[in-house]
Amino acid sequence: MKNLWSDSQARAFVRRYAKAGVNRDRALRVYTSRLLGGEPKLVLHGGGNTSVKTVMPDIMGNPTDVLCVKGSGWDMGDIEPEGLPAVRLDPLLSMVGLKKLSDEDMVNAQRVNLLDSTSPNPSVETLLHAFLPHKFIDHTHSNAVLSLTDTKDGEALCRRVFGKRMGYVPYIMPGFDLSKKALEVYVADPSVEGLILFKHGIFTFGDTAKEAYSRMIKMVSLAEKRLKKGRKKVFASARVPKKTATVAAIAPILRGLTRHNAKRLIFDFRGGAKVLNYVNGRELKRYATQGTATPDHVIRTKQKPLILPAPVAGEIEAFGKAAERALKRYTDAYHAYFKRNNRRQKIKRTELDPMPRMIMVPGLGVFGLGANAKAARIAADLAETNIDVITAAERIGPYKVIAEADCFDIEYWSLEQAKLGRGAEKPLARHVSVVTGGGSGIGAATARALAAEGSEVAVLDRDVKAAEAVALEFGGLGLACDVTDARAVRRAFDQVVRTYGGVDIVVSNAGAAWQGAIGEVSDKILRDSFELNFFAHQSVAQNSVRIMAAQGTGGCLLFNTSKQAVNPGRDFGPYGLPKAATMALMRQYALDYGHLGIKSNAVNADRIRSGLLTSDMIKARSKARGLSQDDYMGGNLLGREVTAEDVAKAFVDLARSTKTTAAVITVDGGNIAAALR
Ligand code: ZN
Repeated sequence: MKNLWSDSQARAFVRRYAKAGVNRDRALRVYTSRLLGGEPKLVLHGGGNTSVKTVMPDIMGNPTDVLCVKGSGWDMGDIEPEGLPAVRLDPLLSMVGLKKLSDEDMVNAQRVNLLDSTSPNPSVETLLHAFLPHKFIDHTHSNAVLSLTDTKDGEALCRRVFGKRMGYVPYIMPGFDLSKKALEVYVADPSVEGLILFKHGIFTFGDTAKEAYSRMIKMVSLAEKRLKKGRKKVFASARVPKKTATVAAIAPILRGLTRHNAKRLIFDFRGGAKVLNYVNGRELKRYATQGTATPDHVIRTKQKPLILPAPVAGEIEAFGKAAERALKRYTDAYHAYFKRNNRRQKIKRTELDPMPRMIMVPGLGVFGLGANAKAARIAADLAETNIDVITAAERIGPYKVIAEADCFDIEYWSLEQAKLGRGAEKPLARHVSVVTGGGSGIGAATARALAAEGSEVAVLDRDVKAAEAVALEFGGLGLACDVTDARAVRRAFDQVVRTYGGVDIVVSNAGAAWQGAIGEVSDKILRDSFELNFFAHQSVAQNSVRIMAAQGTGGCLLFNTSKQAVNPGRDFGPYGLPKAATMALMRQYALDYGHLGIKSNAVNADRIRSGLLTSDMIKARSKARGLSQDDYMGGNLLGREVTAEDVAKAFVDLARSTKTTAAVITVDGGNIAAALR
């Protein structure tokens, strides 16, 4: 591993933060924390932590010895000084004399000694940082170090690789006991440059930021060197079918199966040579079900992945049945694991949902699962990290990690669960929405509104830049899609499924107005309008119900029709006719797919104020409605302007309603001629 320390960068950090009143120690602490955090082979998603012992003024201006240690919720890769809350050092040090300290008392003692009461909770490993005397302390969950410690002979291996340069700490879960043990190991030989924590990670320390960081890189490099000497080829492959089913074909089935108490999960798929080499291994079950590479992964990935048979192309139904059986075995085993381990708890725990967070599919790859796209991505990232660590470990010996009981203690440890944050979920959380024509106007407003309700949203638009720009606002997926091209629609929906695992809500919105007196209009204009204003809705809806049926969890189809469907405007036949057909299409879907729990509804919008309307367009539209241009914008029963956001709200209301189907909602401020009878 490359040492990225740079004297000039270090000086730049010191200078930059000095302006904000941050002292040199803390500025350098930020600098090397970011160096460590920027390397995924060292830490991922909040794993690892760092500290510095320094002096800061208290409220009276008195210089106070403090430990600035990584705060919960911060990521080292982009940490700021506020992410390293200052805790008074003396009270922390006095705790070394205690025989026992409960987690609650430890957290409380850390909080009451903060210099700034608004700081995040200091790391669960704060006392370990406090008890060791070094100025700078770095802690990572380095992949290479874990590959050494997570083997059957991990301890002997580590002693050979690091010798007397490191101290060795047996596995103890983080907290007071581990902090005391680490101190004891250090005191036995104060010449060590750091500590190896078996089945957990590595600490290095030093008088300067550079020293602690450089020792980390040095030790990790030693571990990497040793791993290189291992076997080149690790896993003998099992037989996989010549032609496997696609991710897009199986993900909706798995997404449907893994719902729990009506709560769905979002999926994130990973493939590639390294992943395939791992999931195709003949002994996958042995090495993949030992447990996670470092304990704190367990809260995001669970101890074990669900392992499925390889799906054969064209035999999706058989795969679905096999997956259902495998999942039943998985959840049964999870219940049993919970019962077995909860029995020995003084304070009884509440069982978490039993669904897997990693699904391994030979021939394809691995899915990460989570309550939202971010959690799914984290699970998938950690799955890949585990694949890296386990693959390297298997090069030098059988992979072996902490016992099941230790794993349970971490999974159900309140301090770990607190990291996940348990806020109330938004109404459309765990849902995947697709909005066509989402790059502007009503589509963009609807995409934003769905995202604001907690849904994952894919924005489809002919203009890919516009789609991506809207999606970027809320971290969604922007895709190019000409909805009049049925193959492009299929491709886009497959991409949505590969990204999120399925589809729950579809807003078929893309459309455009064509004009012409119906007796004279060219066939070409009428047919073009039917392509976009009718057939495109049909291919979007067809793809939607295909995926929704595979999920078996219902679904929601929403069409943007128009008042033209009920209250045609003069010379607007080319627009109104396909829109009328689309309204009938909406009803047909409600009728044909209601038994699958799929709702189908429409919104009739009219006279929307939009920055996109040119004065020529307003002129044309007001003429079509027999209105003066002034009347056009506000000329409705309520006398109120209607905006794209109003229409978006109607789509969201319909998406949230559970008992409404085959309905049309008008959003036009009131137009009695367009009222549905
Ligand atoms: Zn750790």
